[in-house]
Amino acid sequence: MSDCIFCKIVNGDIPADKVYEDEDVLAFRDLGPQAPVHVLVIPKAHIATLNDLGTADAAVMGKLYLAAGKVATELGIAESGYRTVMNCNAQGGQTVFHIHLHLLGGRQMTWPPG
Ligand code: AMP
Repeated sequence: MSDCIFCKIVNGDIPADKVYEDEDVLAFRDLGPQAPVHVLVIPKAHIATLNDLGTADAAVMGKLYLAAGKVATELGIAESGYRTVMNCNAQGGQTVFHIHLHLLGGRQMTWPPG
């Protein structure tokens, strides 16, 4: 998608602080971190929201979580703990319409989330 900011990061048109990449998945640090570790894990293929997932996307969704686990280990938060969250549409708090798994850690998380 030519007007999607995360597609532009995938294509190298705008910079990002990348922490993981494979053929299907990219992970980079969030520009506005909400925790000491805040990484976004995205599929390289454009999927706007969770509502747009099809059965063909099942594998890449699993890869997002596998990548998040690797990044958590590499950044030293796997044992202390972390949160993963994917927001969907307006009431879910989604602001970038290319799905992304937030990986947050390095501080105590609270529940319920805001
Ligand atoms: P969400 O509100 O769940 O859609 O999350 C979007 C996230 O993308 C926010 O946490 C933003 O801080 C982050 N973000 C937006 N633009 C960029 C960018 N160019 N590089 C890194 N993170 C970004």
